[in-house]
Amino acid sequence: MFDKILIANRGEIALRVIRACREMGIASVAVHSTADADAMHVRMADESICIGPASSTDSYLNPAAIISACEITGAQAIHPGYGFMSENARFVQMVEDHGLTFIGPSAQHIRVMGDKITAKDTMKELGVPCVPGSEGGVPDVEAAKQIGRDFGYPVIIKATAGGGGRGMKVANSEAEMERAFQTARAEGKAAFGNDEVYIEKYLQRPRHIEIQVFGDGKGNAVHLGERDCSLQRRHQKVFEEAPGPCITEEERARIGAVCAKAVGDLKYSGAGTIEFLYEDGEFYFIEMNTRLQVEHPVTEAIFGVDLVREQIRVAEGYTLSFGQDDLVINGHAIEVRINAEKVPNFSPCPGKITQYHAPGGLGVRMDSALYQGYSIPPYYDSLIGKLIVHGRDRNEALSRLNRALGELIVDGVDTTIPLFHALLQEDDVLTGDYNIHWLEKWLAKDP
Ligand code: ADP
Repeated sequence: MFDKILIANRGEIALRVIRACREMGIASVAVHSTADADAMHVRMADESICIGPASSTDSYLNPAAIISACEITGAQAIHPGYGFMSENARFVQMVEDHGLTFIGPSAQHIRVMGDKITAKDTMKELGVPCVPGSEGGVPDVEAAKQIGRDFGYPVIIKATAGGGGRGMKVANSEAEMERAFQTARAEGKAAFGNDEVYIEKYLQRPRHIEIQVFGDGKGNAVHLGERDCSLQRRHQKVFEEAPGPCITEEERARIGAVCAKAVGDLKYSGAGTIEFLYEDGEFYFIEMNTRLQVEHPVTEAIFGVDLVREQIRVAEGYTLSFGQDDLVINGHAIEVRINAEKVPNFSPCPGKITQYHAPGGLGVRMDSALYQGYSIPPYYDSLIGKLIVHGRDRNEALSRLNRALGELIVDGVDTTIPLFHALLQEDDVLTGDYNIHWLEKWLAKDP
């Protein structure tokens, strides 16, 4: 059992993990860059330690600094949060080589799923349905054009090492193929040091449906239903909900069972998300994320479970504290991502918070590391808070979201709050009638 956990992250997710540790009676260690000396996670943890300068490459992405911080403070385990080191197999290996525990899956599972081609091959073998496309990597433009002819346009060219919406390009015709292929390749090389690409049929109006899974590393696994994250901008989620407004109980049980079985067969350990595109009643696997997701609170809300607590318990070697039959959906939850960004072009907007007031009341959760007087540094992600609401049904969750957004005050920087006020006026959002392209189209027509 852990006495002390180091959180290799910052912002709201660091707070999220510190809170779980405190409830479990485990001491927490925050790490921070020089730019984050005044950050809330540093104030809230039991101990803190500076691991380097502002640039994340030299601090939150510096394995030696993080592992040294564990040794200095006597932390036995590392929670990576999301982003930064959370899906870095080499880091996990280093952590284990130092006799520490990584709170997450094995380096091997992270490696397999981190490469989208091996991930897809693995899932296919485990009986998970995938988007039709190339068998593995596509070596050159000629081969790419042949795949375009075989599957029909449009197709999407994706960097196997891609993530965060980068390294993906759509080709609508053979004429567009060369440019799209080279661009996806160059992006993959520049952002991830790997220029291997593969090709998939580009689905025209799918929803993004992802299944939350949990394994104990010994072959036991469950699913915690789906999240619908179809409202996206540049392949980045902005509004997430659970359960999915268009998924039936039968569909959930069917795809959930396929996912839980795959995760059990893999002997996967900890939290994971299997992402699908969903069109005309069919699920198509796109990728697996081997970490806690930003949007995990909507799942926590409807199932009444603490996913971080469960991650820590599984890392300690316990079996899951719930079985599939214990997991019963209660109501509906929605999360909106509050980013420090200037609408309409969503450029990052760091700066000093002159006023902050978090909403409250029944069914409202605000996960944020903001406080009045805090200066958002320009070096990191623009996510500054997540507003999560829970209601008895979708309509109640929507009115609660409207009410809570009205209470939320973030002054001093531009935020995405006005975007959500506007979205809640839209019939398609109120009825849940949208696909992954809806938001981009809506933004393009709304000045
Ligand atoms: P990343 O790892 O960068 O998040 P994903 O493979 O998860 O990339 O895809 C992110 C988003 O890109 C999806 O949610 C979807 O909006 C879009 N996308 C990916 N693959 C396809 C496809 N085959 N057809 C249509 N859209 C796709």
